[in-house]
Amino acid sequence: MHVRRGIAVCPGIAIGPALVLDTEGVRIPSQVVPHEQVMAEGIRLRQAVDEALRQSAERQRELTRKHGRVVGEIFEAKSGLFEDGKLIGGIEGLIRAHDYSAEYAVSRHVRGILKQLDAAAHVPQAARLRGDYVDFERQLLEILRGGRREPLAELDEAVVILANDLTPSETAELDPKLVFALATESGGSTSHTAILAGALEIPAVVGVGRFLTDVSGGDRVIIDGNNGLVILDPDDATVERYEKARRLERSRSGEHRVQSRNVPAVTRDGVRITLLGNIEFPSETRPCLDRGAEGVGLYRTEFLYIHKGHDPSEEEHYQAYKAVLTELGPDRPVVIRTLDLGGDKFTHSAAGYNTQEKNPFLGLRSVRLCLRNLPLFKTQLRAILRASVHGDVRVMFPMISTVMELRQCKGILREVQEDLEEARIPFKPDVPVGTMIEVPSAALIADLLAKQVNFFSIGTNDLVQYTLAADRNNESVADLYSAADPSILRLIDRVTKSAAAAGVAVNVCGEMSGEPMFAPLLLGLGVRQLSATPRKIPDIKRVVRAVALPDCQKLAAECLELETASEVTRYLRDHLRRVLPDADD
Ligand code: PEP
Ligand code: MG
Repeated sequence: MHVRRGIAVCPGIAIGPALVLDTEGVRIPSQVVPHEQVMAEGIRLRQAVDEALRQSAERQRELTRKHGRVVGEIFEAKSGLFEDGKLIGGIEGLIRAHDYSAEYAVSRHVRGILKQLDAAAHVPQAARLRGDYVDFERQLLEILRGGRREPLAELDEAVVILANDLTPSETAELDPKLVFALATESGGSTSHTAILAGALEIPAVVGVGRFLTDVSGGDRVIIDGNNGLVILDPDDATVERYEKARRLERSRSGEHRVQSRNVPAVTRDGVRITLLGNIEFPSETRPCLDRGAEGVGLYRTEFLYIHKGHDPSEEEHYQAYKAVLTELGPDRPVVIRTLDLGGDKFTHSAAGYNTQEKNPFLGLRSVRLCLRNLPLFKTQLRAILRASVHGDVRVMFPMISTVMELRQCKGILREVQEDLEEARIPFKPDVPVGTMIEVPSAALIADLLAKQVNFFSIGTNDLVQYTLAADRNNESVADLYSAADPSILRLIDRVTKSAAAAGVAVNVCGEMSGEPMFAPLLLGLGVRQLSATPRKIPDIKRVVRAVALPDCQKLAAECLELETASEVTRYLRDHLRRVLPDADD
């Protein structure tokens, strides 16, 4: 049994067979075969090796013809592994000794070799050899599985997904009924992959560091999304303990949700706080309501691009927004954020932009991309305005970094309003307009931006990333990436003060707003609206109901005096333990 620790990003416990991505790309059907089938498995392996050799020779001929002998010879060296008697013999030995299926034996054996190579990473050849063995495994598994790759969207049996990394689009494709949990070697707590796992309520641990060499497809694993643990090859006692914990958790969370839905989010001294939900898909609207959200504070519309080989049409945008608004009814607000494409989120060739930016988080992301592609931008704005007749729509622009950008966005919105008027298409003329504050420059000029909008929404995920120059997806800088950093507290303080002076409402919609320990601090800094992943709303509501505003203000003033993120975190955790002794921080 191996226990690995990573960053817990979505709570819950799962036990199931592993699907190891990046190498297999296919699920290994079974680990062992009946003893009488062992010889047949050996033959299958030999045939697969012969086929791999044949394919390699063909590919080598092709490359030589296209690019000359030098390139062809590089490929020849790579395919030499299929002729390595010791390597193939080692795999056969595993089949004979343990009755393993050919697939499982390939995976087991290669993983052992990869582990040794990882330990010898300082040796110059190690990285290249690693790549060769990964290719060897992938090619053999594909042949053994009859060339069948199983796209994540088409799993037919439930699994625990283990991968080096998953892109946001791969994560969005996952079916929570067929994916018990996921764990990745890389990634950070506010990566979009983590956010999507949260939205889909799939227990998840990210940033585990190298562990895929210790596990083969089909092995039993436990993911403990509450404590950020990945348990490989668990013993029976551990499985039993976790099964018990899982049953208990299920019954508790149902009760908690119902209790929370029926009480208002009011502090002990009577201050009303608005709790809203963050959604990525219209299907999340119901879970929002079930958990007591009073509306949608952030609709990440870029996820409309998932499952599509083309840009969504105006009608597709409109139908998605109408579905959310209809479900929520006329009085619950829905903040529709315009497309935040770019960065790690589906930069799409359909819009005709170079997807090979060297620094995509600092490149053509969000409104920058939209302002350079007006048909894309206008299509969405038309749909949002058309949908406005179905409920309380608010438009929000992401990643605004200058006043000029905000003016341009508002200018385009006005043009679209004029077009609709001319075409006599109905829309609400007074749709509130807001901006995200997620770039340090925006926080610093919040007083100027406040003159332009009806509301702010502080996106702490990016605000932390850009302020501390720490990639939100990179586990290596996870120690720097903290919403508790004094720089972030000061920026939020500045934004809430500028907003109050201008009479502009402030929401916080980054992951910070879903962490119970931050709720009293944010209230103390002047925030009266929090928008979080629906699943987190009941916990936040409990905290809101347990505190009084003067205490929160005192807490905020004290935190603003602290010098490091760890001091702030400790202070907030202690405070939460005092006001709610049984809360998870
Ligand atoms: C944020 O940056 O905090 C935010 C809410 O936007 P996203 O996570 O989609 O970048
Ligand atoms: Mg953001």
